[in-house]
Amino acid sequence: MTATHNVEPMVKADAICKNFGSNQVLKGIDLHVQPGEVVCLIGPSGSGKSTFLRCINHLETVDGGRMWVNGKIVGYDLKGSKLYEQSHNDVCRSRSEVGMVFQQFNLFPHMTVLENLIEAPRLVRKEKKAKAVARAMSLLEKVGLAEKAQSYPRQLSGGQQQRVAIARALCMEPQLMLFDEPTSALDPELVGEVLKVMKDLANSGMTMVVVTHEMNFARDVADRVVFMADGYVVEQGPAREVITNPQNERTKAFLASVL
Ligand code: ADP
Ligand code: MG
Repeated sequence: MTATHNVEPMVKADAICKNFGSNQVLKGIDLHVQPGEVVCLIGPSGSGKSTFLRCINHLETVDGGRMWVNGKIVGYDLKGSKLYEQSHNDVCRSRSEVGMVFQQFNLFPHMTVLENLIEAPRLVRKEKKAKAVARAMSLLEKVGLAEKAQSYPRQLSGGQQQRVAIARALCMEPQLMLFDEPTSALDPELVGEVLKVMKDLANSGMTMVVVTHEMNFARDVADRVVFMADGYVVEQGPAREVITNPQNERTKAFLASVL
């Protein structure tokens, strides 16, 4: 939870631009995230939050600017120099340092919980089964679902599935976790159990970028809140300050609509 300064940022986004056809979705996003920092990204629907997360994780290419994750360049203006051209292997390697959790849990439906967790370590990291299983079971323990190891996703509640999805991402021992509205698809009574797991993760020192409308979580857990609108960072600052005392009119209007 505590940001460390004077070290290389975990995420360094420098004037990131992204267009879909004539739709300019990101218009120059600058954002640094320090190791151990928890940043909540908030803003109206369509403001480019998901697109920005996807750029961090190579799920989108960028049309302008530069993006570094954990010291490695992952996104750059494709029209620019070939200097930063990366091989597919480089992309796979740095993507495996970043875990991502989506609104729709995206578990493999035909696999048990345990199989979901050991799939990537076995395939991508060629881990021995016993080692992958041991780590998976310890992570299931952490999210309170060890007894569901042999269940299938359809046998779990939404909140349980999302906790499995978080454990699955952690199985790759990521340096950075991205969450894209992880509780938006959940029934209200299931939101708390997922936020609790995320709070524990934040307290363990994980670097996290979280897109969320859960302002209580943002205020209590995030170090920093970043408000995006229309493809720009409009306002950012310490979580409590931005949420309780926003300066920009658009931030005020947005917070009034979600609080
Ligand atoms: P947010 O997550 O803040 O709601 P998004 O990043 O999902 O916003 O979307 C920002 C804009 O980009 C929207 O106008 C959306 O329609 C557009 N967009 C997102 N993904 C694509 C895509 N794959 N193709 C075309 N347009 C897209
Ligand atoms: Mg989104």
